[in-house]
Amino acid sequence: MGINQLCKRCKTAEAAVVSRKEPFCIACFRKFVSLKQRKQMMSDQYFQDIFKVMYPDKKKTAEEAERLNQGSRILVPLSFGSSSIVMLDVLNDTLTEQREMHRGKTGFRIDVLVCYLKDDLEELKRKAEALMTVKLRDNKNSVKVHLVDIESSMNSPDFTRIHLQDSTYMVRNASVSANEAQSVKELLSSCSNRSAREDLLNIIKTAIIKRFGVQGGYKAILWGHSTTRLADEIMSLVVKGRASQIANALNDSEEDFEYGEPLRNLHPMRDILLSEIDAYCFVSDLTQYLHKYKPQDTLLVNKIPVAPDAQPPRAKLTKNMTINELARQYFDGIEGSYSNVISTVVRTGAKLDDPENSLKSKVRCGICNNTVFCDGSHWLRNITVTSSHPIEDAEEEAMFRAWSASEQGKVRGEYLKLTSEMEISGHEFPVCYGCILTLGEVKHKSLIWPSSQSNSVESVIEDFIISDESDSEHEGH
Ligand SMILES: [Zn+2]
Ligand SMILES: [Zn+2]
Repeated sequence: MGINQLCKRCKTAEAAVVSRKEPFCIACFRKFVSLKQRKQMMSDQYFQDIFKVMYPDKKKTAEEAERLNQGSRILVPLSFGSSSIVMLDVLNDTLTEQREMHRGKTGFRIDVLVCYLKDDLEELKRKAEALMTVKLRDNKNSVKVHLVDIESSMNSPDFTRIHLQDSTYMVRNASVSANEAQSVKELLSSCSNRSAREDLLNIIKTAIIKRFGVQGGYKAILWGHSTTRLADEIMSLVVKGRASQIANALNDSEEDFEYGEPLRNLHPMRDILLSEIDAYCFVSDLTQYLHKYKPQDTLLVNKIPVAPDAQPPRAKLTKNMTINELARQYFDGIEGSYSNVISTVVRTGAKLDDPENSLKSKVRCGICNNTVFCDGSHWLRNITVTSSHPIEDAEEEAMFRAWSASEQGKVRGEYLKLTSEMEISGHEFPVCYGCILTLGEVKHKSLIWPSSQSNSVESVIEDFIISDESDSEHEGH
């Protein structure tokens, strides 16, 4: 490949990115990514009505058209990873173009939602401010940023203990007093492995975002998942025993009733590879907004020089990686030569339908809120031996006593005590198969969960608003 290879699209500018074997200049590559996203944003009538600029016609007056434009509010969860930042950049460009083409009119409004844990707050606020004052400045009247504390998901007047009995895989719950409540941080640190931790955090975040979406009356939630991310999500769901959720997770064409009121989800980046999104970040000067994410320069013609004093990236031990990280590593590895495999996984996943419900009634999981389609406890009981071998002689008796006194034995003793308490005071509680597996990885196979969820819209601690007079923003409670 020559140094001065030309862009295959415009045939004039020098290539800066090579993707899917095609050389692109910066402008043509940005257009390529942007068009893929916009195609999804126009994928059906519902989304067209959201994003298009409405004008008065035979059916609607000028006021009605303007009301539709103002009422088309979308929610954009922002993780400050490359995908959500790029998605927001394309949305911002769309608004700018609309204002230019339609004499100041725009078809939609954006509400950005940032879920944070306290340790990240200052850094995320700085990044959000930078985004609003620099990148989104021209469209500040159409964009709002909200910050929600992930801990607020534990705000509830009532709590319940959800407990897994490992002899029968039965899940029971019983109400507990508010002073037994755990913080999200405590809950996460009580997980025995990173996969379980990631799984619970993901459940909590998704619930906050969807509830915020429903309570705020948004027309749609735009999820910034790349093709690669969706493929790793699909594979991870299968491994985590959550395959029955795939159909719902990828469904962009029907309403989602998970949180009572109907809501539409859209994955506008579903046709864009993660390496392409990362390349877009580099050529569009967006890397400064990323948080805890390192973009890959694999598609760039001129690689990003490594700083001389930079530490080589520490390779993660496979056994310490979460299921999602393992799936990601796999798809990262094949993106270059076998990117069609990735899109095939996503296309196949999107064709799946909900499984048949083998239960008498429609039930939702008490932890993740997904529909429960089969009795996971029953299934686990049938495939595992749950009773232990009886103690037969004095030697075994002595060994058992030594074990009982050990740290491990004490934890087990605590667990058994909790189990017998729950057998008396607890009630059978619907939990999906995936959550039964996760619950098994939490200390004492038990967690304290809010019985009623707080209002996410109300628990927003601050909104960023850019004033007209200055570059700094005000914080309102
Ligand atoms: Zn070009
Ligand atoms: Zn569940």
